[in-house]
Amino acid sequence: MFTDAGRVPDDFDNRLRTAAFAWLTSRTLQRTGNLTYSAIQSFVFEGHTIPLKDRVKGIWKPARLSSALSITTTYRPPGVVRPYDDLIHEGDGLLRYKWNGIERDEATNRSLRSAMQSGVPLIWFFGVGKGVFNPIFPVYVVGEEEENRQFILDADPSAIGEHEEGVAEQFLRRYLKVETRHRLFQAVFRGTVMRAYQGRCAVCRLQHGQLLDAAHIVPDRDEDGVASVVNGMALCKIHHAAFDVGILGIRPDLVVQIRSELMHEIDGPMLRYGLQEMHGKRIVVPSARAERPRADLLERAYERFRQAG
Ligand SMILES: [Zn+2]
Repeated sequence: MFTDAGRVPDDFDNRLRTAAFAWLTSRTLQRTGNLTYSAIQSFVFEGHTIPLKDRVKGIWKPARLSSALSITTTYRPPGVVRPYDDLIHEGDGLLRYKWNGIERDEATNRSLRSAMQSGVPLIWFFGVGKGVFNPIFPVYVVGEEEENRQFILDADPSAIGEHEEGVAEQFLRRYLKVETRHRLFQAVFRGTVMRAYQGRCAVCRLQHGQLLDAAHIVPDRDEDGVASVVNGMALCKIHHAAFDVGILGIRPDLVVQIRSELMHEIDGPMLRYGLQEMHGKRIVVPSARAERPRADLLERAYERFRQAG
């Protein structure tokens, strides 16, 4: 039987992965952190265009590599409450990725198994819109569950190979897992919100990606604070902070309210143009109805705003 076991990644493999990560880092620092399918396919390495993901299949291995380079999770539109929860295993909290099809030794499944055996880092492309992806890297394949036809993934390479460990290590490992998931879901949430709001602040339309946040309407520590676009808004740093501390509220009919004490204050241009002049303006919401802020979440947040005063 053919096996990839024990295959050591060669120098080409290392160079390609390193270059791909560097390229993705530089690309995603700009604007929203999202990349379209065609942008992802424009990566050039040592004079050759090398696709970083497949158009159709979830698992992708370029011809010259022996292990998979990336995996893709297709965009799941809002409607599902926590659309990516099924990726997390309830028992160990680690992420799961399904085989391609049901054949254990199908070529792409073999390439992902090979990535597990050689311990090479991969890219996880998370769909945040139709044909729009948020890349998360590096991730590692740390195990496989054949009975469930899936691989186990983690962003922490030290999770490879279980061994005896002390309380401190166990604690650290748990912490890293929570951190990993948090980072992953934050990235997906941000990517989805930025794509839906076209990379602009819903209040002032500022378009500078580095000054924009994906804000939660109801905080994510709350039961209803779902990391879904319907509980999100793209807000610039100042409007995000103003919203969170209750200086700026958004009525359920989408009209901005500024706390009355602030309306009479006299200060510099940020107060005047950035806050006072926003009072009574309507926020800009996504064109797709299903992606707009959910009414009950807006009501809850607005109630909190009113009570804060
Ligand atoms: Zn703003």
